[in-house]
Amino acid sequence: MNIEVILLALSPIFLAFIIYEFVKHRKHYDIKDSLTNTALALLHQGSDAIALLLLMPFFYWLHQFALFDISMSLATVFIAFLLQDFLYYWFHKASHHIHWLWAAHVVHHSSTKMNFSTAFRQSLMYPLAGMWVFWLPMIIIGFDPRVAFTVVALNLAFQFFVHTQIVDKLGWLEKVFNTPSHHRVHHSTNKAYLDRNFAGVLIIWDKLFGTYVEEDTEKNGPCRFGIVGQIQSNNPFYISFHQWIYMIKSAFNAKGLKAKCRVLFSYPTSSVEKQNAES
Ligand SMILES: [Zn+2]
Ligand SMILES: [Zn+2]
Repeated sequence: MNIEVILLALSPIFLAFIIYEFVKHRKHYDIKDSLTNTALALLHQGSDAIALLLLMPFFYWLHQFALFDISMSLATVFIAFLLQDFLYYWFHKASHHIHWLWAAHVVHHSSTKMNFSTAFRQSLMYPLAGMWVFWLPMIIIGFDPRVAFTVVALNLAFQFFVHTQIVDKLGWLEKVFNTPSHHRVHHSTNKAYLDRNFAGVLIIWDKLFGTYVEEDTEKNGPCRFGIVGQIQSNNPFYISFHQWIYMIKSAFNAKGLKAKCRVLFSYPTSSVEKQNAES
């Protein structure tokens, strides 16, 4: 099974949740925004499918040098799931701190809406940005590439359910799992919430590595969804490429190799903020 098949098999469930939320909680939706999310999802699925096809031979080639021979069982799949969730945390944290990765990840954050359809707002540039590089340790340790990419898909499928405003805090589950409440914080530009809650499935990584913040509306106000330097566009191509164009132009204009590398790999600046500063 690969990522596309798992996500495709689950798509009727995703669709049912979106329809329910759309009908019952219309205020969280903007039709144009959700259509943009759909277009971005299709572009992302297409580029992901092509990338997997091209990369699978490489993953299997690498697998022959694996450190351990790990057979497939319920226990090893569970360990693979834990390890992948840990790696996802670092991928996600890096995506908010390294401009090269943010250029792709910004797509997911570029909406001021937060609903189940936001989960599908993804970048077609992830394969080029190198999301897959973060899963290589699993292959090197000895997990079969199919197992590795199955747990990637399950992790992403879980994350669909945390993109909503209609679910309040979930009691003890908040302590262990990434929940709608934790992920609302992650999508917010409120000062206290910036670059927090990078979890995929388990929130424990944020708690362990000091990036956890609880949603506290009384203290921090209601969540303001979007990005610092909000872009105002529903054009899927503009949304997919604006940060890349801004980043490459900035790198081109920077004097010297060191400065160019700094543009590409240090903390990202917003393309819109820069435009505003210049005008
Ligand atoms: Zn993020
Ligand atoms: Zn999200």
